[in-house]
Amino acid sequence: MNWTKAALARLAAEVRENELKANLHERICPYDLADLYGVAVYTLQGLAESGCPPEAIEFFTSVRPEAWSAALVPNGTGQFIVENNAHTPRRRRSNIAHEMAHLLLEHEFDRILFTNGNRGCANPTSKEMEDQAAELSGELLLPAVGARRAAAYGRSDDQVADQFDVSTEFARWRMNVTGARKIASRAARTRSR
Ligand SMILES: [Zn+2]
Repeated sequence: MNWTKAALARLAAEVRENELKANLHERICPYDLADLYGVAVYTLQGLAESGCPPEAIEFFTSVRPEAWSAALVPNGTGQFIVENNAHTPRRRRSNIAHEMAHLLLEHEFDRILFTNGNRGCANPTSKEMEDQAAELSGELLLPAVGARRAAAYGRSDDQVADQFDVSTEFARWRMNVTGARKIASRAARTRSR
């Protein structure tokens, strides 16, 4: 399906407001979102305790721990998420949001999707789906509307990162890609004329 950026922003806003009871200027909890959709999130250790077959755990532990942050695993008609809890909480939050974005967009996939860091899957099924998931997870964690207001208030990338509970790298990416910084500096120039 074709999603425009505007449509993805609307979807994210609906999920934030209706399901997570958050406005466009506050942090959301991607773990709550997974919970609402009945998607279990396991750490590797939790996976062992949940009775996951040893071959599957072997598979995850054999992949270099720094090489993956989270994985979306098809499981019958559903999915579950495995996360690498060696990474920082903010990085983990963005990975869970990314995996949930694929799920919200009802992307079909025939493999375990691995994410690595802030920028999404290491083995996407298609560039189009990957771009959609990246945009939707960006809007979920740090909406363009929130980014623009934060920029207008002159907040630094670090302050924005704290406001939305994301990494500084993630905040910087959103502040740039949404045009928030550009819009704020143009407004400042207009005012000073
Ligand atoms: Zn992805």
